[in-house]
Amino acid sequence: MHRVIPCHSSCLRTTDYLPLLGSPGSRRTHRHLTMESIWAGRLAHRRLLPTPTGRHALWAFLALCRDRVKPGDEVVLAGFNFYVIAAVLRQWGLNPVFADTEPDTLCLDARRIAQAITGRTRLVVVTHMFGNPADLPAIRAVCRRLGLLLFEDCAHAVGTTTADGTQVGAESDGALFSFGIQKIVNTFGGGMLAVPEHLAAAKTLPGHHPSAVDAFVSVGSRAAASAITQTPVSDWTVQPVLRLSRALARRGHQGLSRTLEPARNDPAYRFDPDSRSPYRDFMRPMLAAQLARLDANIRARRAVRQQIRERLADVPEIRWLAEDRHGYSNAAYFGIYVPDPQELAAFLRGRGVTATTGDFRDCSRLPQFDGLADCPNSRRTETHLLRLPSHPTLGERQIDRISDAVRDFFTHHSPLPAPRLTAPHGGSCV
Ligand SMILES: *Cc1c(COP(=O)(O)O)cnc(C)c1O
Repeated sequence: MHRVIPCHSSCLRTTDYLPLLGSPGSRRTHRHLTMESIWAGRLAHRRLLPTPTGRHALWAFLALCRDRVKPGDEVVLAGFNFYVIAAVLRQWGLNPVFADTEPDTLCLDARRIAQAITGRTRLVVVTHMFGNPADLPAIRAVCRRLGLLLFEDCAHAVGTTTADGTQVGAESDGALFSFGIQKIVNTFGGGMLAVPEHLAAAKTLPGHHPSAVDAFVSVGSRAAASAITQTPVSDWTVQPVLRLSRALARRGHQGLSRTLEPARNDPAYRFDPDSRSPYRDFMRPMLAAQLARLDANIRARRAVRQQIRERLADVPEIRWLAEDRHGYSNAAYFGIYVPDPQELAAFLRGRGVTATTGDFRDCSRLPQFDGLADCPNSRRTETHLLRLPSHPTLGERQIDRISDAVRDFFTHHSPLPAPRLTAPHGGSCV
């Protein structure tokens, strides 16, 4: 029996956190480690404010910009998105207006922004989806021309750079980063807002006050989940826990499954600023340790992606992304287009390969946002995108297992043609 290949691994090591949890002495030596010093090589000239989660960073940004972005104003964002982002905007009293994405990068299409603009538009939110850089020069030019603020969602994009080698999130009005357990850098949760000096200096941010129990549970459950996914016995621990969490969720108990497998859409979602622990001192050295290995991590992920791609290059049902079209992707997540991703994911599960579908949605079609826009590329992406494992812990044998399983599926199971992904206006897929 093969071990199950998980879809995600953040490359966190036990040595990144065990010494910190154990000894208050080593924690104290890290108290003076600032976010700015940890990120100095990547995000110079920014104020970096640690936050309880990535979504808190968007909330904090809206608080800092409340003179310029007011309830009733409109925000343009990509249709293919994380529904929480649109929900947070909504909760702040803003109206999300969806614009379509480029099928081959999964990111907001700069050419679609202008037609989504009205007299009430104040802000554009661009997501570097899957760690693929969006076309920042073009998007920034539109924002500058129309006098709009630009905010970047870099939750997937630590280590992703623009064509000139700049870390994304380094040059706009604000950017969020997330260090949750499903992200490329994992500090048991936490996030960060990157803003220009003048914005951070102008205002104080509201503090967050979770109860001691909430704070403990919010870090503790993520630490436990991260620890078990790293152990060599994860087949005997993670898989049963996942089964238990799914069974509990079916019976209406969502707590465990919300931590382990974040929902793809929850129409009743409300952001609660006090629900999570503030960024803790011990998370900073954890972050620093992982950033020190980040470039090697990304090189390894890109090599895994490339090897799977080469092994499957002649499978006609697969359409490949152009992840590096606007810069250098960190390969945080590896997406491919196939005719029926659900069917393929179920087949792969039977072969011990975890692939996911539907992590992100065409939010322009989610009823809770009453989106008026039509985003055909985002819709096709939602329908056809599959996420394969691409973490650096995968060796040659596992890369073969993943590639062989995908090939076998198409050899024996799928009579469907490759998806057509080019909308009349869309970018072309390779
Ligand atoms: C995870 C994620 C976020 C927010 O991160 P949290 O830390 O979970 O709040 C934002 N955008 C995208 C695309 C994400 O995947």
